[in-house]
Amino acid sequence: MSTMKFCRECNNILYPKEDKEQKILLYACRNCDHQEVADNNCVYRNEIHHSVGEQTQILQDVSADPTLPRTKSVRCAKCGHAEAVFFQATARGEEGMTLFFVCCNTNCGHKWRE
Ligand SMILES: [Zn+2]
Ligand SMILES: [Zn+2]
Repeated sequence: MSTMKFCRECNNILYPKEDKEQKILLYACRNCDHQEVADNNCVYRNEIHHSVGEQTQILQDVSADPTLPRTKSVRCAKCGHAEAVFFQATARGEEGMTLFFVCCNTNCGHKWRE
């Protein structure tokens, strides 16, 4: 998984931490006090296991969603664009979370999974 996050203050690894009061997932640095709210995966977690058609629709929509995290550490195999939106979801018929990428090139929209 390339979902590892790093502290923007000191570049150490951020560890997931549950905020029980607010019921949200945080990433916290163990080296300094920095912490940030985790990416909003949970919205998609519940939506992406319907039919293949619906799933494709959702995947197409996400590349235009500004709230989703983007990464420049991957390259689209189809058009070579070096930026993609990514999110975790449960793939149909599978257990556990899979990392999905959607190419940010609006003319492409290629999607793939890790
Ligand atoms: Zn830190
Ligand atoms: Zn592409």
